[in-house]
Amino acid sequence: MFKSVLIANRGEIACRIARTAKRLGLRIIAVYSEADARALHVRLADEAHAIGPAEAAQSYLSIDRLIAVAKAARADCIHPGYGFLSESAGFAQACIDAGLAFVGPPPSAMRAMGLKDRAKALMEKAGVPVVPGFHGEMQEPKFLQRKAYEIGYPVLIKAVAGGGGKGMRKVERHAEFETALAGAQREAKAAFGDERVLIEKYVTSPRHIEMQIFADRHGNAIHLNERDCSLQRRHQKVIEEAPGPGVSAELRAAMGAAAVAAAKAAGYEGAGTVEFIADGAGGLKPGGFWFMEMNTRLQVEHPVTEAITGLDLVEWQFRIAAGEKLPLKQDQVRLDGHAVEARLYAEDPERGFLPSTGKLIALRFPAAEGLRVDSGVEAGDEVTPFYDPMIAKLIAHGTTREQALDRLVDALDKTVVIGPRGNAGFLAALCRAPGFRAGEFDTGFIERNLVALGCTRQGLDSAAAALGARELLARESARLSAANEREPDAPASVQTSPWDAADAFQLAGARRLELPILADGENVIAEVVHAAAGIAVTVAGSAPAADAVAVAVADAVYVLRRGRQTKVSLRDLTLDEAGDGGAGGLVRAPMHGKVLGILVEQGSAVTRGQRVAIIEAMKMEHTLTAPIDGTVAEIAVAPDAQVAEGAKVMVIAASEAAQ
Ligand code: ADP
Ligand code: ADP
Ligand code: MG
Repeated sequence: MFKSVLIANRGEIACRIARTAKRLGLRIIAVYSEADARALHVRLADEAHAIGPAEAAQSYLSIDRLIAVAKAARADCIHPGYGFLSESAGFAQACIDAGLAFVGPPPSAMRAMGLKDRAKALMEKAGVPVVPGFHGEMQEPKFLQRKAYEIGYPVLIKAVAGGGGKGMRKVERHAEFETALAGAQREAKAAFGDERVLIEKYVTSPRHIEMQIFADRHGNAIHLNERDCSLQRRHQKVIEEAPGPGVSAELRAAMGAAAVAAAKAAGYEGAGTVEFIADGAGGLKPGGFWFMEMNTRLQVEHPVTEAITGLDLVEWQFRIAAGEKLPLKQDQVRLDGHAVEARLYAEDPERGFLPSTGKLIALRFPAAEGLRVDSGVEAGDEVTPFYDPMIAKLIAHGTTREQALDRLVDALDKTVVIGPRGNAGFLAALCRAPGFRAGEFDTGFIERNLVALGCTRQGLDSAAAALGARELLARESARLSAANEREPDAPASVQTSPWDAADAFQLAGARRLELPILADGENVIAEVVHAAAGIAVTVAGSAPAADAVAVAVADAVYVLRRGRQTKVSLRDLTLDEAGDGGAGGLVRAPMHGKVLGILVEQGSAVTRGQRVAIIEAMKMEHTLTAPIDGTVAEIAVAPDAQVAEGAKVMVIAASEAAQ
């Protein structure tokens, strides 16, 4: 076995590999870009080396730098993780040339499977069923269009060098082919520097079912059962599970045999995944699956396989790269219960899944039976715009699919991501969706159910906003009483706050104030009522949510409720005034203070600049004046009341003449 490993990756997978490496007693050598100097994968390592700037092209994708660090640190082997250089035959070769073991397949196997057209040709030769279509050299648009017609619409245009769902276009009609082709080629050229495409029959009701395989250099190859990764968005996996719902033992055996044949045909070693597309219409059938591609690396979703087999796939990778034989024979591979993985991302499902960056103010996962959480970040870490915005993977294992899904839902409900927006609510909605629960789904499930899954703008969560407002008030009053305790004769500046418990609020009956807040970017008013029983806060009639998590930072309170985040802060009046043009006759309190006097009455005629109210703050009187000519339409506060900065004091209705 190796004595040390350089992990040529970052984030979740670098941490995952480090965990097994540590257990096996390997010295862990991490690498990091400037953006990751304090990242978790660096903190977990025995030693860490800087490899360049934040841009992946100059750091995690720099073969020269990685090899130089590995040699200087005297690493025995390099584990590439997934993404980045994990499928680069050039990198694997460079490792070998430098005398380092590459924890992955030989470069020749990576090349054989690297391009989808070549891989399909190889599979056809090996007798593995491939998706019907065209995967030849000829790339002339008219020719490709004729091929599409022969295959029969709908078809899928795919970049031969594709990955991550890029360079793909579904085409429904002959007339749309040319435009779609141009789009796929453009995307492929930009993403992979290779615009060549292949054309496939678009499988109706497609289910993505893949087989995890392992091969050693002694001629042994086995599979570790299938994973169903049909819940996708834009051809990217969102939820994965094992075993596949509706996959019979017969289908599993047929797919397993095809996957092992694929691995053998490629001269494979190590961990790999053979991806199949299956026709789910009318139920899965042993004859209804076709090879799509092979991923020559560890897969993001490998933990569901680990859960049902009880194996550590990273350990197997190390053992095989070190020349050992496969630890098990095919009939010794277990399949225990059911496991489901959800990918937790820093993204906003309500806004088209836009990646969301920033500091993770809070990040908490529950600890529960059957739950595993793989993460690459901790509270306090940054989600930067440079890399994949994955925060963590939650993997739930149970004796049945129902139990695994229940456990996952429960874990997602209890997951706290604060700072960047997260997709936990969306993932939980998916795991609850009746169609998915019933096993009636295909790769179009998410797209068809976006509205039901809450992926449209939901509007302000008033109960969350009310909770945020109440927390702001509570925090302010705690700050004030602390200040008062420290200095009983504290300067007035800290005593003028409207929620100063020692002030007018306690003297009389219920008092009401309107607190202007900014909630999820919206200007709203929190109604604050102080009564003998305490303080009551509402926003648009909603009381503070009881089923939410609130976390305060310097200038705001973040409220997380049902997976949605609402940021609440006191409205900045100076900014507000500027945007208040339309509000014309609104008279607001310029600061927190006490109303000393109201100088007009409801219905009084006033002229612009006329004194209408006096507010006292910091032991100084501030006179409020009418912003326009008109009549007093509403008086929102009573003498002696406390008002918050920005609160409405009165409204002047413009006089006819002024309009
Ligand atoms: P899989 O089938 O395993 O999901 P993909 O083709 O989607 O494979 O590629 C792997 C995914 O992992 C990509 O979406 C890529 O952006 C992401 N990725 C790559 N490196 C990392 C990393 N270090 N941490 C988290 N995600 C990563
Ligand atoms: P990538 O390299 O981007 O992962 P794949 O060939 O694996 O490309 O395809 C990605 C996804 O696109 C699959 O998981 C599947 O959901 C969908 N897909 C691919 N081929 C077909 C097909 N012929 N018919 C229907 N869906 C397909
Ligand atoms: Mg794929």
